Amino acid sequence: MKATLDHVGIAVADLREALAFYRDALGLEIEAPEEVASQRVRAHFVPAGGAALELLEATAEDSPIARYVGKRGPGLHHITLRVDDLAAVLARLKAHGVRLIDDTPRPGAHGSVVAFIHPSSAHGVLVELTQQSEALEGIDGRSQGND
Ligand code: ZN
Repeated sequence: MKATLDHVGIAVADLREALAFYRDALGLEIEAPEEVASQRVRAHFVPAGGAALELLEATAEDSPIARYVGKRGPGLHHITLRVDDLAAVLARLKAHGVRLIDDTPRPGAHGSVVAFIHPSSAHGVLVELTQQSEALEGIDGRSQGND
């Protein structure tokens, strides 16, 4: 299997403080935010070479990001690997007894589909797998916004 580092997710407690660091102090460009309703989160992508940082801001108190920040404080939340065929990768992981958070792909940011691997099976790292919308269109003709 081939995988490309897509982005690194960073859970943020206070977006203004995060922007004061990443945008104002570091001088990075922040893309327009994108709401991921299924995860009750607002994602602010920060392009960094071929990959990106994803500043994650909770939009509800029961958001997984709000729970994470409440427990551990802000910080590194997940890494995301881009794959060509997410369903095939999930089948392979299941065959290897890997503990998955998502058994099947679900809608993610930018019209992608995503699935998470449980950190207990990934050496303490929450790993998100993503398949981009272009790859989806290539495989089965689906278009963006399939939630
Ligand atoms: Zn992410």
